[in-house]
Amino acid sequence: MGRAIGIDLGTTYCAVAAVTAVGKAEVLMNREGERITPSVVMFQDGITQVGTLAKRIAPTAPDDVVQFVKRQMGEASWKFQTSHGPSFSAEQVSAIILKRLAEDAELMLGEPIDAAVITVPAYFDDARRQATRDAGNIAGLNVVGIINEPTAAALSFGLDTGFEGRALVFDLGGGTFDVTVMSIHGGEFAVEATEGDRNLGGFNWDNELMSLLNKKAMEAGAPDLFDDDLATAELRDKAETAKRTLSNVAESRIVITAGGQHHTLTVTRDEFERATAHLLRRTETITEMAMEQAGRTWADIDKILLVGGSTRMPMVWDLVETLSGQAPDRTINADEAVALGAAVHAQLLLNNSAPGASALPVIGHHGHTPRVLDVCSQGLGVIILDEDIGAEINSVIISHNTRIPAQQERTYFTVSDNQDSIRLRITEGDDTDVDYVKIIHQHPLEIPRYPAGAPLRVVMSFDVDGIVHVEVFDETQTPTASLGEVELDRPSNLSRDEVDAKVTELNLMDIN
Ligand code: AMP
Repeated sequence: MGRAIGIDLGTTYCAVAAVTAVGKAEVLMNREGERITPSVVMFQDGITQVGTLAKRIAPTAPDDVVQFVKRQMGEASWKFQTSHGPSFSAEQVSAIILKRLAEDAELMLGEPIDAAVITVPAYFDDARRQATRDAGNIAGLNVVGIINEPTAAALSFGLDTGFEGRALVFDLGGGTFDVTVMSIHGGEFAVEATEGDRNLGGFNWDNELMSLLNKKAMEAGAPDLFDDDLATAELRDKAETAKRTLSNVAESRIVITAGGQHHTLTVTRDEFERATAHLLRRTETITEMAMEQAGRTWADIDKILLVGGSTRMPMVWDLVETLSGQAPDRTINADEAVALGAAVHAQLLLNNSAPGASALPVIGHHGHTPRVLDVCSQGLGVIILDEDIGAEINSVIISHNTRIPAQQERTYFTVSDNQDSIRLRITEGDDTDVDYVKIIHQHPLEIPRYPAGAPLRVVMSFDVDGIVHVEVFDETQTPTASLGEVELDRPSNLSRDEVDAKVTELNLMDIN
């Protein structure tokens, strides 16, 4: 029988879940008996330690401990340099975490894992999604899919409660922020719009609180804590704890040891909220953008789901309640819903790929087999010369928030007589300014010589696996003739061989 797991690979914490024999997803504990595992890796004395122990060591050994690596996913130039020599890419560090999570899951399930789905913020672009997939492959997992975190949370909520209607998922995690508007009917989970910021999360609130505490410490006579790595790491740890405390009480106290002296610092929720008001405002703007993209007003929203640990901050539910005029649903488990939904998705994909008597059923509240319909989170287009302004612009062909699989086309015109080639440059992003989009592929294409103004039709498609297909047609001829086509798998930082080599490297590591 095939077992599938869902992994919420968070910036600060991870959770793993699997569908049980009764068709319900459940969180799997790690070897330490915890339901969530800190996304922290320590490299010390030849030992690689993942999770709580590594997180505890972080304040005293910042050079040997790596955390918040999700913020670096897909950044080809980023490396974590260990103090004793080897360095690791974001994919490798994530693979180490994933490997440990999978080993623990196998321990709990008592059988090998055949398939995994890993979650990503809805706003992750293709390179970051591919980096996540690569990390899974390096960890030796069979990654059957990637699912957006808010979609996974809504899937879990919908199946558990039988909710039908339109939901807004407000997902503020440790490092990323996503808002998704989704309609749930008859087992169909259809994303209407998604917006986000992949660099906005609890981490940013921690940074502001660190600055506030540092200022207070300096006023009390301490040296600047940011001048010392160890003091900064200690401050980060204490600020995060103080932040959590402020979610429950109006005032928090921390003790900082610096310059040979102890300083007791007090911070109030009010001060914290003022110092982070600009971050909250950013979530407000993004939420309004998502509503606009979905073409909905607050009256259309039946349920607001808060996901991600940072939604425990009272300022967040106050904001959401003020904006929407309704109290958010707080029954959803902010730490676990994403992994639970991913487990459901993983089992569904596994069942579809190997249908048989042994497949574990996934049972929804109304007896429907759930179906997920997603949108693309980034626009896709081509760079063209805009003759009116005499400059190159990005022309979006499939705009973001289009339901996938998607196919759209646009017709462009040649700019000079006897032009014999075009440079097809495929972009990802929604801006018309070429500086604000990413060129994901370039391809020269020969065209027949015509007078200027010859029409060329560009047909672009995007499937659920993220494969982009582009074909250019010569519209001057009848019937129209194809001038060429390209199929882009997700752009990856690593080749197949590099992934294989890293699998071997990881197998040689002793991960605890
Ligand atoms: P996630 O990535 O969804 O696990 O979110 C983790 C983030 O939530 C981290 O930045 C935590 O500091 C934050 N967090 C967890 N619990 C609380 C709390 N009670 N109050 C404020 N932030 C919290």
